[in-house]
Order: sequence, then C-alpha cells, then structure tokens
Amino acid sequence: MTNENHAEIFRIPKTFPMNEDALRQLIKKFPTPFHLYDEKTIRENFRRLREAFSWAPDFREHFAVKATPNPYVVEILARDGAGTDCSSIAELFISEAAGVVGEKIMLTSNDTPAIEFRKARELGAIINLDDISHIEYLEKNAGLPEIISFRYNPADIMNDGNDIIGRPAEAKFGLTREQIFAAYKICLDKGIKRFGLHTMIASNERKASTFTYTARIMFELAAQIKDRLGINFEFVNLGGGLGIPYSPEESPVRLNVIGDGIEKLFREILVPCGLGNVRIAMESGRAITGNAGWLVSTVLHKKNTYKNYVGLDSCMSDLMRPALYGAYHHITVLGKENLPANEIYDVTGSLCENNDKFAVDRRLPAIDVGDVVIIHDTGAHGHAMGFNYNGKLRSAELLLRENGEVEMIRRAETLQDYFSTLNFPDARLKLMTK
Ligand SMILES: *Cc1c(COP(=O)(O)O)cnc(C)c1O
Repeated sequence: MTNENHAEIFRIPKTFPMNEDALRQLIKKFPTPFHLYDEKTIRENFRRLREAFSWAPDFREHFAVKATPNPYVVEILARDGAGTDCSSIAELFISEAAGVVGEKIMLTSNDTPAIEFRKARELGAIINLDDISHIEYLEKNAGLPEIISFRYNPADIMNDGNDIIGRPAEAKFGLTREQIFAAYKICLDKGIKRFGLHTMIASNERKASTFTYTARIMFELAAQIKDRLGINFEFVNLGGGLGIPYSPEESPVRLNVIGDGIEKLFREILVPCGLGNVRIAMESGRAITGNAGWLVSTVLHKKNTYKNYVGLDSCMSDLMRPALYGAYHHITVLGKENLPANEIYDVTGSLCENNDKFAVDRRLPAIDVGDVVIIHDTGAHGHAMGFNYNGKLRSAELLLRENGEVEMIRRAETLQDYFSTLNFPDARLKLMTK
C-alpha cells in the first residue's frame, strides 16, 4: 500500500443496479448465467473522465472496444461523443456498426495484418503504428494516410524517487526512443503532414502519479520531436490503463487529481513550445465499463471435501480474470447481502481446470443450492475474454437501459454455434445439436 493510497482506506459497498425482486423477475425471463451492463453507470463513468479534462482545448476518449466488444455498448458512448480504440478488424467493424467512423477511430494494433490496415484506411481511422517497419508495410498494403501516429515505448518507467515502477522494455509494444524520431522523419519525407503521438504504459493502475508521469514523458517527447523535426502534433494519446477498485477496500482513481496534474504539465511543457492546441486523448476501457457490469449466476452444487466449494452455472469462459491473473472480483449473494460472512468457500465453475475458480477462500454468508450469486465489476475484459475450451459456451449479455428496460444485446452461445465451424457431415452434426 503506497502512501498515496494510504489516507483513503475505507470500504465502498458494492452495488447492483436492480432490487432483489426485479432481478428475480429478470432471471425468469433470461435464465442465468448472464452479464448485465448498466447504461447509466457507463454514461457517468465517461462523463466523469471527460469532466476531468474539461480544461483541455480538446479531449477525446477513444473507448477501448476490446474491453466490451458489443456495438450496443459502444453506441451508448458514441452518442455522448466518444470515439473508439480498435486493435483488430472485428473491432473496426463493431466501431463502424456503432456509428463511430473516421478520425474518431484510433487503430492501435500490433503485428497488424494488411487487411486490418485496409479496413482502417477505408473507415478513415487514425492509424497508430506499433513499429517503424510498419510505415513501409502500410504504404505497400494500404497506402499512406493523411495523419499518422506512433506508439512510444519508454523502456523503463521511474517514479519520482527514480525507482523503476514499470518495465515497458520487456513489452512487445511500441517504438524505442531512437526509432520514434526516425519514424516521424520518414513520414515527413514521404509527405505526411498531420501527426499524433501515443503510448500505453499502465494497466489497472489507480495511482494518479503514474498518469501524470506518463503525461510528462509524452509532453516532453512531443516538444523534443517538434524541436527537432518541426512537427506540430494534433494529439497526444496517453493510452488506457485507468484502474478500478475491484475490492471494496481499494480506493478509486482520483480522476480530478490526474486531470489537474496533466493540466499543469500541459501549461508547463506544451503551451510554451507552441503545442497549446494539442488534443489530449485517452483510450480507457476498464474505467468506463468495468464497474458497469455484473455476472449473474446460480449455485448448482455445494461440495464439502478438504475444502468447501460452491459450484456455479457459469465458469471461466464467462470471466477469465480470476483464473488468469488471480484477480479479485467481489461476490455477493442475492438477498443475503446483509448476512454475516461467516462461511469460507471456493466459488468454482464447471471447467475441467482446477484454476476455474471465481474466488478462493472467500468469506461469504452461508450459501444454498439455487442461490443467485452476483460477481461484480465484470463489465470490462469479462465476457470479452471468454473462450470455448472444454466445450463451454459463453453467456448472454443484457443491457439495463436508463429507462429501466432490459434488453438482451447478445444471446448465449448454443451447441449449434459451438459445432458450426466443424467440417463434419450435416446429418451427423444434427445428432450432436438436436
Ligand atoms: C487494452 C488496451 C486499452 C484499454 O485498457 P484498459 O485497461 O481497459 O483501460 C487501451 N489501449 C490499448 C492499446 C490496449 O491494448
């Protein structure tokens, strides 16, 4: 626990956007498991981010589509003026379907196939190159665009005490410092006249200083590139990575501290060198949809062996983060929110992998078969990460609209879906899906 967070230890109760009766009614209509997203929370998160940068001459959030790749969700943000950050051709199509086209799209991909560059060019997206060699690849395969951006990899990230707090040098992304100057020079020589600059350093980071530090690195770099090559950047994109408090003990990101800190650096570094009109861009995913989603599941089994287990009707194909990263997701039991948490359970899914657990040694109220379990903060990198290992099918996605109505915005996968790519005689496939 750093000093920065230390002053703020308090518990923020985890909430659900519907009352018990309404959720029980909903489950009658849409059986568990499903992810439920809350439009109101998504909107509020976006507006709060925008508010923190209201001082900026221009601010744009390019919502990271990979966090919640559903056009209905992207559309909510698009209506409020957000753009998208795409990193695959599928995400470009989702963006287009949600009505986000042109320079509201930023393509921040890596190891990019030609078809993706061509789709991005067709949509007029801002292309953010991950490597100096991609200039030639892009030119050859899709033609050079009018505006170009590069992803900077700053190698090692220091804090104010000069300790290394991150090692982007170990990451596959971005260009080195030397390459980034060379890359803009090549593009200038090729006649490109409009430029942006990008980095993405943090992930699920809640310390304001990481973001102000990132801004400092990027503003200084923009100033140096301008000084050396005469480039007037149109935007500096500070990436995503804003964290959320998954545990009630964690404190939220102080967006106003980040916004104010970056404003100060903007005035100190960019304004004096004539870059006072630069657009500040971010590409947050988690901070926009993370706390706006819940995985709702039903207890199928209880099992007492060397430990006590509660088995759900969902599994890691619906939410990978606990199994993949040991990530904490808060769990509540419908109707038992205020009962004492005096039992200890492993909360598991049905996948034949021992790490298919939503929680290990979690204190919860006594649980019965049939109880409805709510797993919190699943709105970002939740359903999106799902996979079909072990023949497990991904759940539906529901959207709670601001008017209180619930829409199914993606149905659950079926066995037909699972077998549909199989090249197997139709008659025999039918046996498998009837
Ligand atoms: C994943 C990703 C994001 C979003 O990250 P969050 O942690 O959800 O904010 C933004 N930009 C790029 C390039 C990414 O790969």
